[in-house]
Amino acid sequence: PRVSLTHFLEQSAATYPDNNAIYFMGKRITYRELLDLSYQFANGLIKRGVKKGDRVAIMLPNVPQTVICYYGALFAGATVVMTNPLYTERELIHQLNDSGAETIITLDLLYKRVTSVRSSTPLKRLIITSIGDYLPFFKRMLYPLVQKKDGHNPQVTYGSDVEPFLSIVKESANSPVKIEVDPEHDIALLQYTGGTTGVAKGVMLTHANLIANAVQCKAVLYKLKMGRDRILGALPLFHVYGMTTVMNKGISIAAEIILVPKFDVKQMLELISKTKPTLFPGAPTMYIGLINHPDLQKYDLSSIEACVSGSAPLPVEVKNRFEELTGGKLVEGYGLTEASPVTHSNPIWGRSITGSIGLPWPDTDSRVLDPSTGEELPTGQIGELAVKGPQVMVGYWNRPEDTAAVLKDGWLLTGDMGYMDEDGYFYIVDRKKDMIIAGGFNIYPREVEEVLFEHPAVQEAAVIGVPDPYRGETVKAFVVLKQGMEASEEELEKHCREKLAAYKIPRLYEFRSELPKTMVGKVLRRQLQEEDKKQRE
Ligand code: ATP
Repeated sequence: PRVSLTHFLEQSAATYPDNNAIYFMGKRITYRELLDLSYQFANGLIKRGVKKGDRVAIMLPNVPQTVICYYGALFAGATVVMTNPLYTERELIHQLNDSGAETIITLDLLYKRVTSVRSSTPLKRLIITSIGDYLPFFKRMLYPLVQKKDGHNPQVTYGSDVEPFLSIVKESANSPVKIEVDPEHDIALLQYTGGTTGVAKGVMLTHANLIANAVQCKAVLYKLKMGRDRILGALPLFHVYGMTTVMNKGISIAAEIILVPKFDVKQMLELISKTKPTLFPGAPTMYIGLINHPDLQKYDLSSIEACVSGSAPLPVEVKNRFEELTGGKLVEGYGLTEASPVTHSNPIWGRSITGSIGLPWPDTDSRVLDPSTGEELPTGQIGELAVKGPQVMVGYWNRPEDTAAVLKDGWLLTGDMGYMDEDGYFYIVDRKKDMIIAGGFNIYPREVEEVLFEHPAVQEAAVIGVPDPYRGETVKAFVVLKQGMEASEEELEKHCREKLAAYKIPRLYEFRSELPKTMVGKVLRRQLQEEDKKQRE
């Protein structure tokens, strides 16, 4: 592609100006309005001195302003830095310094946190947006978080160092902005990795990378029609998964994006019944939450036609039950921030294999390599998954050594262990770094988790390796039981014994009411590991 990512918005607004682009808490914004607002914001940024290549941080939950600021910043030629609104001060300081962002747009309720880190960062411009009409709802949602993290009352008045988003938009012209970009080289987005694997690194994604992934997504969902679909935006847009599959893909097909600021199962069910989304990209925990809700029968989910689940393995039972309930398709996909993010998925209307991440996406190549030699392994053998395609990042921001460690001749080493079957379908066994070595045997936590999951009383399970004086490591399981159900340690052990080799059976169990998760619903095994370590100290 020779164009900027913003081309999607211009095209959809030209062809479907009166179609709804965004639905947010009962209110709608059309494509014409969204384009105008984005131009206005872009003109406002340029007037304030934002130049091509400058980094602009956006620290917002899923609200319309996120989309406006994102496309506005891109129209202005800037590089967007998406910032998790739940970041602590330490994380925020790291990200702002590492990216060198001088401008940030955030919510009034987060003002205190941002302003407190200001002197330790390069920040020059602070743009605050208010939720206005929606404030009561947001207060309910954010008060506990803000109070817990910052210990202050979020009803703040802010100083003269701040500019309101609305006045920037209101006073700026909606004239088209034409900052030329080189799609193959100009960085549209610096997306920070989760940091669960060490210090958070900025993944450099070009306009071409992000365009490619949205277009690939469109190709996979080939039954889509321009200007017809409604996408449930439950995934956070500040994470690259939601950014591509909800926002960029959505805008590229002139869909209505139904923004969900916070994932709450009951509210989601109500929203689905009311807004009738056709597409619902999500993470397994979201689908698990929905299908286990006690009042499920009261809601109509039949509008849902296609869902790609990514970010973690999708349990079989969840896929089947969800498809039964909606009459739509739910297939598993795979990706990582470094690939914009999606690289594989099962065909939505073709042969979907349970337990597989499916086939490489259009124009994507995939191989399984021997982690010690880098040689390609034969079909069926487990090794490190590598991918190559137009969606693969150009590197990590200011980290040439980290880049060289994972990018070789255009091939991205994913850090995930997997294999390919005879038909070319790929399977993820687990993360390279989460592998447990007990008594010399390799154990992949995922396999054990799946067996636990098959027990009727188990809602969720996570497995880690803990130190063991004889075996090096031993398997420990954290289990969340379904409401009103019971299962003892002995019973779970017996269940595992029927399905797993002896060395894989968890020797230790801990029952929890919930598991720690990332914003896209991935279980944080690392945090469980740390908590377990503390318990033993
Ligand atoms: P960090 O940046 O700290 O490493 P992270 O690895 O979670 O965090 P992401 O880019 O958000 O960063 O997630 C990518 C990872 O998610 C993949 O490398 C893989 O381990 C996991 N993943 C994604 N989809 C699937 C799937 N379908 N099955 C199993 N694992 C998956």
